Formats: sequence, structure tokens, C-alpha cells
Amino acid sequence: MSQHQDATVVVQLLSLRKVYGKQRTRVVALDGVTAGFGRGSFTAVMGPSGSGKSTLLHCAAGLDRPTSGAVILAGRDLATTREAELTRLRRDRIGFVFQAFNLLPSLNVEQNVTLPLKLAGRRADKDLVRRVLSQVGLGERRGHRPGELSGGQQQRVAIARALVTRPEVVFADEPTGSLDTGSAREVLVLLQEAKNLAGQTIVMVTHDPVAASYADRVLFLADGRVVDELRQPTSGEVARRMTQLGSWAERPGPDGLRQGAVMR
Ligand code: ADP
Ligand code: MG
Repeated sequence: MSQHQDATVVVQLLSLRKVYGKQRTRVVALDGVTAGFGRGSFTAVMGPSGSGKSTLLHCAAGLDRPTSGAVILAGRDLATTREAELTRLRRDRIGFVFQAFNLLPSLNVEQNVTLPLKLAGRRADKDLVRRVLSQVGLGERRGHRPGELSGGQQQRVAIARALVTRPEVVFADEPTGSLDTGSAREVLVLLQEAKNLAGQTIVMVTHDPVAASYADRVLFLADGRVVDELRQPTSGEVARRMTQLGSWAERPGPDGLRQGAVMR
């Protein structure tokens, strides 16, 4: 447990279910997920392709609504919060980092980072912005546009943008998925620092055992369920469990049929 982590649960998922489509196209993407994320914790979510990782993250971040179950954040159930309030909660309390960076190409680094504050009608605290930019190693690049930066630098801008509102939690979906090994490492160290230095709560989806080893806990998903958990993970142990998970996930159910999501 890190220095900042305490017993306060920032996000609680309760019996989360998400069903896409109807009848022949019906897919159970989440099949009863219950999990809590403590303040100052860094959790990695792993599982085979199609196991429900992105769906889990999107439901937990209020970007998508579960079919049933609850997502408790800041004393509210995001699953049933109406849209206007949900938009506010997402803006003020939740940070999101995507695989594809999602920066605005016409805005420079500083403008991209302060955008969430502007959208919230909050004044950008110059000191805070400077601190966050130097924290992600981009103090000298504040006037550059995304197109003038490497992929790793762009993802660091996206992380600065996610951190600048000091959210309750940062969700990251494969944040290192399109980066080379060196840039990926920088991004992971940055997330770890946000946890260690600022007590930031982080939930990161990844399929990379090395990336997962930067977290302090790994949740393993298969067919929309949490099937395993590992604390203080090493990449070797994570890889070993993923291999087991592959064979576990492909084994037929008792009725001879695989249940839930399709492996790809
Ligand atoms: P992962 O991120 O682990 O690869 P996803 O959460 O993206 O898995 O998907 C879980 C399952 O739900 C998959 O079978 C996927 O095809 C299905 N799925 C995801 N999004 C949709 C959607 N919008 N409509 C229909 N099925 C979907
Ligand atoms: Mg995904």
C-alpha cells in the first residue's frame, strides 16, 4: 500500500452488468462486476480481448450506462444520475486518458491542458498549470501544438490534462497501447508519480504485463467477470496468470457452450 493510499473507497462498482444488443446479437460484456478502488491506489485491469475491460472503464467513468448495477462515486450512483449532472461529475471529478491521446490539434500544449478548467468555468491557476506541465516534463513545450510532439509527449499532455482538475480518479484505457517501449515507460512512471506524490487514484486498462506491473493491484477479467486479483504485481507473475486465464476463458462451460463475450 502506498503512502497516500487510505481506506476510503473513491469508486465502488456493485454487481455491474452490461448487455449489448438483443437476441442473436446479444453480448454480455459485464456479468456482475463488484470492485472498489481506494483513494491513492493504482489498479490495472487486464484480460483477453473482448473480456469487457473498456466497457468496465466506460461504465465506471460515466461514459456509458450499465444495464444494471451501481457505480458509486462522490456519494452518487452514476448509473442512475441524469445526464446534465453526469456531465458535470465527469468534468469536475473524473479524468480520462485514451489510447489515441484525443488532443485538440489547433490548441497548443498549455491550451489543451487548461481546456477542462475553461469548460468548467474555472480560472486556470497559473502555478498549478506550470507545476503540472513540469511534472509531465513539458514545461518547455507549452507553446507547441500536438502535431509538433512525439506520441509519448502527446500522451503526457493528455495526462496533464487529466490531472489538472485534480479529479477523484483518473481512468486510462490502454494509455501506452500506441507508444514505443521508452515512451510507454515514461507515461507509466508519470502515472505512478501522480499516485505517489499527489495520492491520485488511477484505474488503467492494459493488456501488457509490464505496464500492469507499475500498478499496485491487478484485476483480471474474463468473460465480463473478475476472475483473479494480484497485489504488488511483477510482470512475470502477471504474464503467468494471463496465460492461465487464456486457457480458463476458452474452456467450455458446463453445458458445452462458452458463455459471455467472444475471444478474438
Ligand atoms: P475489451 O476492452 O476487453 O477488449 P470490450 O469491453 O471492448 O472488451 O468488449 C466486451 C464485449 O462487448 C465484446 O464482445 C465486444 O464485442 C462487445 N461490445 C463492446 N462494445 C459494444 C457495442 N457498442 N455494441 C455491441 N457490442 C459491444
Ligand atoms: Mg478495450
